[in-house]
Amino acid sequence: MQKLWSQWRSTGQVSLRAAGRALFALAAIYTCAAAIFTGVLLSKIEREARFTRETQIPLILSQTRNAVKAERMASLVRAIYLARDRRLERQVQLQIQALAQGFPFDAGDRVVAGSKRVAILAKEIAAARQQARDSGAQNTTAFTFEERATAAYSEAIKTVDEMGKELSGDAALAADKLAEEIQSGAARTRFTVLLTLLMPGLFCIVLLWLARRHLAKPILSAIANLNRINDNTATVAPRSRPILTELAMIGDAVRSYGETATELRRKNVVLQALAEEDPLTGLANRRTFENFLKASLADGSRLGGTAVLMIDLDHFKSINDRYGHQVGDQCLQSLALVLLSVDGLSKSLAARYGGEEFVVVYNAESEKQALVDAAFLCRRIEATRIPLEGEQSMTMTASIGVSFTSKNDAAEMGDLISRADKALYLAKSGGRNRAISDHSAYAKGHVSRAGGKIIR
Ligand code: GH3
Ligand code: MG
Ligand code: MG
Repeated sequence: MQKLWSQWRSTGQVSLRAAGRALFALAAIYTCAAAIFTGVLLSKIEREARFTRETQIPLILSQTRNAVKAERMASLVRAIYLARDRRLERQVQLQIQALAQGFPFDAGDRVVAGSKRVAILAKEIAAARQQARDSGAQNTTAFTFEERATAAYSEAIKTVDEMGKELSGDAALAADKLAEEIQSGAARTRFTVLLTLLMPGLFCIVLLWLARRHLAKPILSAIANLNRINDNTATVAPRSRPILTELAMIGDAVRSYGETATELRRKNVVLQALAEEDPLTGLANRRTFENFLKASLADGSRLGGTAVLMIDLDHFKSINDRYGHQVGDQCLQSLALVLLSVDGLSKSLAARYGGEEFVVVYNAESEKQALVDAAFLCRRIEATRIPLEGEQSMTMTASIGVSFTSKNDAAEMGDLISRADKALYLAKSGGRNRAISDHSAYAKGHVSRAGGKIIR
């Protein structure tokens, strides 16, 4: 727990392992505390129950017994008053005395004193009766003794009544106290049991909320970022940094992986361009051309056949020598633009074959049509102006060798290229600035001037 706190204080984050250990410790502490607390509570309830059984219930029973004794004492007082027989009065008086001595001290001072007083009054009743009998039936003295016996009787009955009330009041009080103790014990038990049961529930709710906020959210955000990387879109930083170190690390790793993936994709695009394109002209390179030609020859749906135009600038060395390599490069770029701007060539690809040699491959109807297209290209190249310093510009010419294979012929790629190369040689030796196929002598164009022509 201390480790968790110091981690939080120093970094604002906690490790998943430390958080897990802290949770485990909390759960263990709670379980022990709940067990100890419940044990203590139950043993207290047990002690209280034992105390009640040993003290309160005997007290109630003894008070009830004493109340019965008081009742019996009242009956005996009535009996001694009504007896009118010396022997009987003596017997009853002895019974009342015995009963008075039978009241224990725990019956209460007033009850003990009351019982003693009743015994004395019973003795007085018996004595007054005896004196009345001794003085004769008609004597006024006898009447006075009879009055004294009646007064003692009234007092005795009143005292016994008060004793009865006191005893039943004490029993009721003890019973009430017992009921109160049982009730408060039950209330305490109910509160403790509810608290013990509710605490884990509340703990679980808080735990679920924490897990959702600090566990599920960062994981879902990392997954969303992985999907974004998959979809090639930028990753997003979470609104708040995860407080669990491991999840923060995963989030950071996913975002840095996203940056690396974006950088790799960008580099891949560049590398692919470098692998497939010529950097000077932006046309496809020789490898791309060969792949395209292979695919074109394998394509059964092609129109008529496949034509290869092998284009070579005339006297390009002289252009370089006369105007410099930069102008030479410009010529190559202008030629590339001309090749790209030719419309109507179905499924075509223009590529730089190497140096000042270019190729165009496309689906042509026939060899004758390919020658017409090549001658048209010659004219477009010748009509292209390359700006020089000042107001000046220059033109250039190119020779084109044409090879063609119909879709029914099974011509090899190498064969088609070498035939175009051969035709190019014929075009060069035939005077340049013209297109020639390896079969026909069809040519269009003019004899090229050495190293381009300056136009003012
Ligand atoms: P031909 O009419 O017979 O084709 O003569 P040519 O001078 O064009 O042919 P040659 O093969 O003698 O010369 C080709 C030249 O092209 C030589 C080389 O310096 C130049 N060259 C090749 N690649 C480049 C390039 O990328 N830029 C420039 N400026 N020149 C290049
Ligand atoms: Mg050449
Ligand atoms: Mg050349």
